[in-house]
Amino acid sequence: MTTPAPQPFHQRTEAALADAHLNQTLRRVTARVLDSRTAGLERLPASDDWRDHARRIRAHTLAHLDRYLDEFVTNVEARGGHVHYARTAEDAVTYVTDLARARGLTKAVKSKSMISEEIHLNDHLERAGLQVVETDLGEWVVQLAQDHPSHVIMPIIHKSASDVADLFRRTLGATDEEVADVPAMTKLARARLRPEFLSADLGISGVNFGVAGTGTLCICTNEGNGRLVTTLPRVHVAMMGIERLVPDIPSLGTVLQVLARSATGQNLTVYTNLLTGPRRPDEFDGPEELHVVLVDNGRSTVLGSTEAEILYCIRCGACLNVCPVYQQIGGHAYGSVYPGPVGAVLTPALWGQDEWTDLPHASSLCGACREVCPVRIDIPRMLLTLRAKGVDEGRAPSWIGQGLAMFRRVAARPWLFGAAGRAAAFGTRLLASRGWIRRLPGPLAGWTASRDFPVMAGDSFQDRWKKRQTGKPGGPQS
Ligand code: SF4
Repeated sequence: MTTPAPQPFHQRTEAALADAHLNQTLRRVTARVLDSRTAGLERLPASDDWRDHARRIRAHTLAHLDRYLDEFVTNVEARGGHVHYARTAEDAVTYVTDLARARGLTKAVKSKSMISEEIHLNDHLERAGLQVVETDLGEWVVQLAQDHPSHVIMPIIHKSASDVADLFRRTLGATDEEVADVPAMTKLARARLRPEFLSADLGISGVNFGVAGTGTLCICTNEGNGRLVTTLPRVHVAMMGIERLVPDIPSLGTVLQVLARSATGQNLTVYTNLLTGPRRPDEFDGPEELHVVLVDNGRSTVLGSTEAEILYCIRCGACLNVCPVYQQIGGHAYGSVYPGPVGAVLTPALWGQDEWTDLPHASSLCGACREVCPVRIDIPRMLLTLRAKGVDEGRAPSWIGQGLAMFRRVAARPWLFGAAGRAAAFGTRLLASRGWIRRLPGPLAGWTASRDFPVMAGDSFQDRWKKRQTGKPGGPQS
């Protein structure tokens, strides 16, 4: 189950590129968050070693996932929790809706959970008659706007403060004073959400990491809503991808060292909660029941594929922030709940290329995503693999195959390759103005729709090399 793509990818992209307000908001926020990330990692001595260690932990866990899943399930159950393995999205939503019906639950409060977005849990619960209230501020705004998140940790990165103020006026009848600035709007959200926590009988959360050795759930939030969701309602359901495990508490400490720093630049997320089992008889708070839903939904297939490394992801969002494509088009243009570089791999890896064949091409392959990833996932390598698979499966447009066949014929004949290079250099000089081509003709116009094309060098590398060997001017400087 995925977010249906309403338009072809290139149409969504063109619409996003034409939205100046969106472009401005994305550039401003991603630049600020990347600066914070740099500062956060600089505060961590030997941060590269921490990143290497975090990567080893993720690689080790995924290599022994069957063992760690067994251990995790045993420990959650030993501490009074229930675990349900959901092979598909349908299995997962059916389990939660059946549970709600069986316990007579009527109102759910939720903290942020990407996997719930992935399986459209809210829609299913609402169809089953439950009221569902998002309590993460960004997710609440998304819910009020009947929108979708556009970033894995900043769901409303596409909205400015004035957008949210307008929304609160329209949907909540907020006064000008209540939306005067961000603190005022936050205060309004607190006042509106507090009664929802107190009246809910079901709390639904995501899980950042499950600790196999103890059956502990680690849930990170910056607003404290995660604590209320997981302790006030009488039933807590934790939704978790099967890959989100670490072996033990020391391993958790390592991945937490790099998670918040890579995400927001914080040393640690403000509320880093460790929950082990439901309320015990000698305790005063906590849920009566804890249910952990382990969602597979394609992950075990990815595990044995050339894209398995993408499951190391700890959902920090840094690769989105640094990606020049994401910075221009934002998350909605990807059409998937997982946007940006991680989504361009994870989405087709999980659900195939029938619907998502364009996503691996939504990258300049600049490598910035690999540079910033706290667990050093080689996203560019997997994007190329997915592109190659798409070609092997006959998904590439016919003009690409014809163009490559023509290139092969030219490139195999040095005299022809040289002549074609000189003709192309001459042609680009004819079309250029001050060294740049603003608009290429015919089918090449797409290249220059949103960027300029440089004039090709007048002489080839071989020409320059010969000049250098003979000592003529114009050769490359050493
Ligand atoms: S792929 Fe790496 S950088 Fe991107 S969200 Fe996952 S952990 Fe963060």
